[in-house]
Amino acid sequence: MVSRVIPVDPFDLVIFGGTGDLARRKILPGLYRRFLSGQMPDEARIIAAARSEHDDQEFRDFVRAAIDEFGSPEIQIPDQIDAFLDRLSYVTVDARGDQGWPELAKKLRKKVVHAFYFSVGPGLFGDLADRLHHYGMADADARIVVEKPFGHDLASARELNETLARHFDEGQIYRIDHYLGKETVQNLMAVRFGNILFEPLWNAQYIDHIQITVAETVGVGGRGAYYDKSGAMRDMVQNHLMQLLCLIAMEPPSHFDPDAVRDEKLKVIRALDPVEPAEIVRGQYGADEDHADYLADVEDRSSRTESFIALKVHLSNWRWKGTPFYLRTGKRLRARTSEIAVVFKDPPHSIFGPQEGRRGNVLVIRLQPNEGINLRVTIKEPGPGGMRLVEVPLDMSFKEALGPDAEDIPDAYERLIMDVIRGNQTLFMRGDEVEAAWAWTDPVIHGWEERGDIPRGYDPGSSGPEDALMLMHRDGRRWREVKA
Ligand code: NAD
Repeated sequence: MVSRVIPVDPFDLVIFGGTGDLARRKILPGLYRRFLSGQMPDEARIIAAARSEHDDQEFRDFVRAAIDEFGSPEIQIPDQIDAFLDRLSYVTVDARGDQGWPELAKKLRKKVVHAFYFSVGPGLFGDLADRLHHYGMADADARIVVEKPFGHDLASARELNETLARHFDEGQIYRIDHYLGKETVQNLMAVRFGNILFEPLWNAQYIDHIQITVAETVGVGGRGAYYDKSGAMRDMVQNHLMQLLCLIAMEPPSHFDPDAVRDEKLKVIRALDPVEPAEIVRGQYGADEDHADYLADVEDRSSRTESFIALKVHLSNWRWKGTPFYLRTGKRLRARTSEIAVVFKDPPHSIFGPQEGRRGNVLVIRLQPNEGINLRVTIKEPGPGGMRLVEVPLDMSFKEALGPDAEDIPDAYERLIMDVIRGNQTLFMRGDEVEAAWAWTDPVIHGWEERGDIPRGYDPGSSGPEDALMLMHRDGRRWREVKA
């Protein structure tokens, strides 16, 4: 394990919804990995609170099975798992009633950080906040972690912010967007602001356009009913893609501190232009031999919710006027991949004469798979035959470049939870940011609802509807291939 890990302060972390899917797949195995890395001090305690009746032992068995199922082979170390499980306990708590709350309050120790992770449906956030207050746990140092979705539109996000603000200050509220916890996303800031190389070119004068792609191969699976109420715009663009766009487009903050960074992100969101209907393409995946189509998955043949969306987005500020951002995300696509491609303009004049098929420099920031950075540069094709140019990638996979250190890159959730304990809000969304993102998203959605827009079909395993390709082709540009 890496020696640079600095233990966080002692804490009591309460996970509401500790028996749920997110806790089982991400939060609890992630906490075990932080324990293994040495980041968790001896005095750390984790208390799961959920509706079903369990005792501590049953809950520990549940976590052991979760680590077995979702942890990699090298972390299956029985002694360590036992030592981690010793820190866990369980309380049956009803978010909407009084059951379990006094017991939970009694379990919390004095003089340690108190963090409450709301890993339950958003309909319970207000109940949890009210009861934490009522049972004396919402003190000035407590922190709450709130899962997505944060609202369904501007009105509901505002209401949620107001509900939480009844008992907690903004400085105590950690709204998770797990994309911000990804190593590469933070690297985006390091690359931009830690090097002199890119920043002078980082504007409309030198950048032709930017593509942000988040592609999934899975369909909506068992979440059809939930997903159909939201769709790709609400589920992915309003939060994850918007956050990526902010980090690419923001001005350099004066310091790497939470409010300085979030102030700059907020300015980006506020500079977004409304989206023209012709610059939006929505789609629904069709069926293939093994899978049903979207409409069957959501059990509603009349659904107009999109499982794919592509948008051309403009920013009205000095840095970006004239450089479009193309965003796309969808399910059942060819590969599971997330990347940002910064496509630079061609040199103003080619001293080598016309060079057929040559494209300019491209900086690709890969979020998954194989997190890394790739810069495409032009060189001379080796050998005789004159000055023929060829593009080659300067490719840096974090795993290859950083060796064993990169092996220990924490998963987004683990990193973010440790940031909560450290009290660092830089990688969490502030209330005004979330509201600004909805203020931009709402009219786009209302627009297509009013027009009665029907999503286009697309083939599973493709890169989305044909019209999405056209969105770029008609500007003389092309999407990068969706590939793993
Ligand atoms: P889930 O349905 O699997 O689990 C819900 C948990 O809440 C269970 O532990 C249940 O006991 C508890 N619960 C329900 N009603 C309760 C009540 N009245 N009192 C106390 N506890 C109660 O849900 P999930 O998939 O784990 O999702 C949790 C949250 O995380 C949701 O807000 C979801 O949108 C968000 N989220 C989930 C994922 C994911 O991959 N599962 C990803 C991103 C965000």
